[in-house]
Amino acid sequence: MIAIERSSVRFGLTAIPYVVRRSQRRGTVSIAIDPAMGVLLTAPQATPIARLDRVVHDKARWIVERLRRGPVGAEHVAPSEFVNGETFLYLGRQHRLKIATGAVTRVALTGGRLVVTVPVGSATAVRKVVVAWYRHHAAERLPERAAIWAKKMGVPVPVVLIRDQRRRWGSCDPKGNLRFNWRIVQAPMRLVDYVVAHELVHLGHRHHTAGFWAALGRVMPDYEARREELRGMGARLEW
Ligand SMILES: [Zn+2]
Repeated sequence: MIAIERSSVRFGLTAIPYVVRRSQRRGTVSIAIDPAMGVLLTAPQATPIARLDRVVHDKARWIVERLRRGPVGAEHVAPSEFVNGETFLYLGRQHRLKIATGAVTRVALTGGRLVVTVPVGSATAVRKVVVAWYRHHAAERLPERAAIWAKKMGVPVPVVLIRDQRRRWGSCDPKGNLRFNWRIVQAPMRLVDYVVAHELVHLGHRHHTAGFWAALGRVMPDYEARREELRGMGARLEW
């Protein structure tokens, strides 16, 4: 079993959770923003957590700024052409599109590639298949996450619907049904969870009042960092 070392540092109202990777060859501590793991510290074996907390605290302003801007190395823009080599995100990981032709339409994630097989490789046809693939995965993942978070919050597991709603990540109707934009599954799971927890809190708080944010903070103490991270990524996910 490999234990993942984690800690969290408060910076004003923001909690900055981070993950530690220990390295024997390391003499110093370094900080990176990893698209999948968030704030990642690489540290020598013996550096105590209290020392790492201080390093994170000293760099807090820089970290929050980076999280706001989105993942490091986000030089790629949202896909638009649906051609070979374009980058697609699924749960925060990047996959290069590879278009193959074949009688049976299908999509597979293999070896860091999103392989789309279509009878005719036009951009329209590929887009349609890729969107259907995301929607399928959103329809699997979002009810799972909603059930997990509903349990944590002690609320009934809601009905989850997947929609193509460009302008919002999620919404909640008076009957308590939750709707999510399929595009959210491009983001890392910690950001998917932010959207899910946010909508679940709306079941008891219609508007973004102080009570709403306090309730969200009780189940997700680092929600502010996640919200900023999602804002930073937003543009890349909208296509
Ligand atoms: Zn809201």
